Formats: sequence, structure tokens, C-alpha cells
Amino acid sequence: MPLPDIQDRVAQACAAADRSPAEVTLIAVSKVQPPDRVEAVLKAGHRIFGENRVQEAQGKWPAWMDIYQGVELHLLGPLQSNKARSAMELFHAIHSLDRPKLARRLADMAQEIGRCPDLFIQINTGEEDQKAGIPPSEADTFIREARAMDLPIMGLMCIPPVEDTPSLHFALLAKIAARNGLTGLSMGMSADFEEAIAFGATHIRVGSAIFGERVPQAT
Ligand SMILES: *Cc1c(COP(=O)(O)O)cnc(C)c1O
Repeated sequence: MPLPDIQDRVAQACAAADRSPAEVTLIAVSKVQPPDRVEAVLKAGHRIFGENRVQEAQGKWPAWMDIYQGVELHLLGPLQSNKARSAMELFHAIHSLDRPKLARRLADMAQEIGRCPDLFIQINTGEEDQKAGIPPSEADTFIREARAMDLPIMGLMCIPPVEDTPSLHFALLAKIAARNGLTGLSMGMSADFEEAIAFGATHIRVGSAIFGERVPQAT
């Protein structure tokens, strides 16, 4: 199984960047992976997983969470406001806070439920029309507004455009975080997590490099 290899590469990238591996959380992105692959990683002792859709996660994780103690789920994909409550109940962290309406909704729910997952604000560093996220020019204002709602903002997240050099986006995300006093940086995927670590990533989201290529969905 490739998990130990990825853990080694994370450790090496940390050493090269003069960082402690304890600063970098490896999120194993299990979306649309066959159950046997996910269970193999659970059996190997890994407990931190990422999913893109609330419904898919609701369908498969509660049963595993009964068997394997200490599972921590991270929501990486876009969150519809009407799924906010389910997401808050299931996930330890949400990496896709990307609009004022969702911030308001999460704040209201947090009041009601009495707790809130760790939140990362998604920044659309490439300013791509088809991608979710706050434009870099509006990031400071949005961060301020979200904090004013008492939301636990841990950091920022980005998904660089496929055609770009990711390091430019990692550097931009780190810069926006630093000037806002945020320490969490959710960046880096299978193809570029080592680079992300060099630029200060605290949460790397690695799917296919751990589980193999995703099997296309029938939906
Ligand atoms: C699918 C996904 C990943 C993992 O991608 P890989 O290239 O398989 O590592 C990471 N982050 C987000 C937001 C994703 O949707």
C-alpha cells in the first residue's frame, strides 16, 4: 500500500523545509474510492480522511466510525447551505467556506448546535470563473466578517488552476494568511504536496497517490 511511501515523502519534504512533520496533517482523500481501499488505509492506522460531498460521506462513514475509533473527517468540496447542519454534525473540519451566506448559516447553526467544525476559507487564487472561492482582492474583508461572526477560522484553502505553476498560488495563499494572522494552510494534492509543504502547508489533501486512481462514478 502506498500510504507509508507518502508518509515518508511528507517527512522528507518537512525535513527539506526545516519544518516538523507534526505541523503537517495528511488528509487521505477517500472520495469515490472503493471501500476495500479505504478500509486498507484504516487498518493501517490512518484516521484523517477527506470527502467532497456530504451525502456520500454520510452514506459510508458512520459505519466505519463505529469500528475504527478516532476518525476525523474533513469536507473539501462545495457546501450547499441546506446541508450545513449535516456537515457540521459529521465533519471535524470544513475547507470550503466560500461565501457570506454560508458563513451566516454556519454561524447560526453553531449557535444552535453549540459547536462548530474548524473552518478554512477557500480562496480562488486563480480567479477562475468555474471555481468556488473568495477572490484574493476580497479575502481580507471576508476573513474579517467571518471572524466577526465568531466562526473558528483556522486558515485558508486553495486549489490552483491545473495549467498554472502551483507554487505561485501557494505563495499567494500563504501571504494572505500571514497578513491576516492565520496559521492554517490547506494546500497541496497528490501532484504537488511536497511543494506545498515548502510553502508552509499545514494540511495536505492527498487522494490518488494514496488510494490509486479514482474509479469513475456512475452518476
Ligand atoms: C479530489 C481532491 C483532492 C485530492 O486530489 P488528488 O489529486 O487525488 O490527490 C484534494 N483536494 C480537493 C479539494 C479535491 O477535490
